[in-house]
Amino acid sequence: MNKTTQLYEGKAKKVFLTENPDLVIQEFKDDATAFNNKKKGTIAEKGIVNNAISCKLFTLLESQGIRTHLVEKLSERDMLCRHLDIIKVEVVVRNIAAGSLVKRYGFPEGTVLEKPIVELYLKDDDLDDPLMNESHAVALGVASLDELSVLKNRAEAINAVLKKFFAERKLKLVDFKLEFGRHKGEILLGDEISPDTCRFWDLETNEKMDKDRFRFDLGGVEDAYSEVQKRVLELD
Ligand code: UDP
Repeated sequence: MNKTTQLYEGKAKKVFLTENPDLVIQEFKDDATAFNNKKKGTIAEKGIVNNAISCKLFTLLESQGIRTHLVEKLSERDMLCRHLDIIKVEVVVRNIAAGSLVKRYGFPEGTVLEKPIVELYLKDDDLDDPLMNESHAVALGVASLDELSVLKNRAEAINAVLKKFFAERKLKLVDFKLEFGRHKGEILLGDEISPDTCRFWDLETNEKMDKDRFRFDLGGVEDAYSEVQKRVLELD
C-alpha cells in the first residue's frame, strides 16, 4: 500500500490517502506541541516510538473486541488505517487527578478517583478545544446522543483494558485522550494512544513518563518515551 495525496498534516502526524479509498496511512512525526501550539519542539524518535506503542495497544484492544482503525503497522513510522470520518469530540478518561482536572476543579494532583471521570472536549484548535457536555455536542451537530453514548461506553471499556495492561507493566494510567470516527456505519477508535496522549506515572516512584516531561521541561523526555515503549513491548 502506497501513500498518494497528503490529506492532512497535524501536530504529530501526517495522514495520506492510498490507492484504496477505504484506507489511509498515518505517518508519525517527531514534532511535539503543547498548550495548544504555544510550545513547540521535537522529541527524537518520538514518531517511531508512538507508532510502535499505538500499534501494540490497538492490537490489544482489537483482541478484547474493541474495534479500531488499525489495519497493520507498515513501517517504523507508518500505520495503515481504515479511513474514518473523524468525530469532532475528544474523549478524556481520568483515573487519577492531573492536568486540567487539577486546574479546573481543585483536586489535589494524584487524587485517585473512585470512579473514572469521562469528559468531552470539542475538537477545535481555534476554540482551544473547550470542555463540553452532550447537549453542546448535539447542538453543534458534531455527534448524536446515541453516538455519544457509544463513545462514553467504549472509552470506559478501553480504560478497563488499558489500566490492567499498564499496571502489569508497573505504570499507572493517570488519564488519556481518545478520538473516534465513523467507518461504514460503525464507530471505530482512531488517532493514537501514546505518551503524547496519555499520562503515565511509574507505579513505584510516581515519576512522570509522558508528554508532561516536555510540557514542563522536566528533562529526560526521550528516555521516558523509550522506557514506556520497552514496558509496553517487553511482555510479548
Ligand atoms: N490530551 C491530549 N490532547 C489534547 C488534550 C489532552 O492528548 O488536546 C491528553 C493529555 O495528554 C492527558 C489527557 O488528555 O493525558 C488529559 O489532558 P488535560 O485535560 O489534563 O489537559 P492538559 O493538562 O494536557 O492541557
